[in-house]
Amino acid sequence: AKQQGGSSIVFFSGEMNKETWQRIEIERSLRKALENNELYIAYQPIIDIKTGNLSTCEALLRWDHPEYGLIPPIQFIPIAEEIGLIHSFGNWVLKNACKQTKEWHQRGIENLSISVNVSAFQFQNKFFIEEVKEALKYSGLEAKYLHLELTESAMLNHTMEAINTMHILNEIGVNISIDDFGTGYSSLSYLKQLPIHRLKIDRSFINNIKTDSREYAIVNAIMTMGHGLGLNVVAEGVETKEQLTLLKKLKCDYIQGYFVEKPMPPKKFEEWYYSTDL
Ligand code: C2E
Ligand code: CA
Ligand code: CA
Ligand code: CA
Repeated sequence: AKQQGGSSIVFFSGEMNKETWQRIEIERSLRKALENNELYIAYQPIIDIKTGNLSTCEALLRWDHPEYGLIPPIQFIPIAEEIGLIHSFGNWVLKNACKQTKEWHQRGIENLSISVNVSAFQFQNKFFIEEVKEALKYSGLEAKYLHLELTESAMLNHTMEAINTMHILNEIGVNISIDDFGTGYSSLSYLKQLPIHRLKIDRSFINNIKTDSREYAIVNAIMTMGHGLGLNVVAEGVETKEQLTLLKKLKCDYIQGYFVEKPMPPKKFEEWYYSTDL
């Protein structure tokens, strides 16, 4: 309509109210998402580049809202963190992803590992180690099949406690991966003192990787450093054959991305597993 001057301010503040209202509405429904069975886990394969075998799958949380449909995690996980729901969500993912993986072992998908994202808030919680132990006990999954994905910032906040937690997890037999590697703090010196097993190179570096590009140099450097520290390296967000070829040349250990498959609900993951020549 032909609104001008003052009336556009009214319009603007109306929009603000709508946004605030939407946010309240999202919060309200997010609090009920678990009990209403609106959450599920999608699984994305991580493939051993040398053998082509399925090695691990990453558990990725999904929220299927009854009205709005699928809401992407980047939209609801920050809210869940803000209002403290991330603890129950994170614990739910941990338990159910471990249980699902154990079931897959029993049905012949042997040696499959599960990689679970851990929010910084969750990691810093004093009950975190107990929750990991509880999830392993509840599911019957052996610790060596569980990988926890932590971001650099999650590890560097509260450094002493974080390192201590990582050592305890390591003693239990759980693996630790650094997620989104390369996007966080620039200091690499901390890497050698941490009990970690895997680096996941962020998708942003893989996106534009081509021969002789800056990204290629960065990925090459990360690969050399990771291997030098005895870690294995995963490339995230691999979408093309060309990227795969370059990553092979760079001696990358694992790939994950749409080139292999998108994240899938459990049934679809099984169908994919049994129908693909890995
Ligand atoms: P992330 O941990 O870096 O997960 C990888 C994201 O990249 C996933 O997005 C995945 O679907 C997407 N992806 C994988 N391959 C490709 C590709 O080839 N191309 C493109 N364009 N994207 C690809 P998703 O599932 O939307 O998750 C987004 C983020 O939400 C995750 O990023 C993670 O930070 C967070 N998240 C997801 N599930 C959980 C969870 O259970 N707990 C916590 N704390 N965070 C989670
Ligand atoms: Ca991740
Ligand atoms: Ca990542
Ligand atoms: Ca990411």
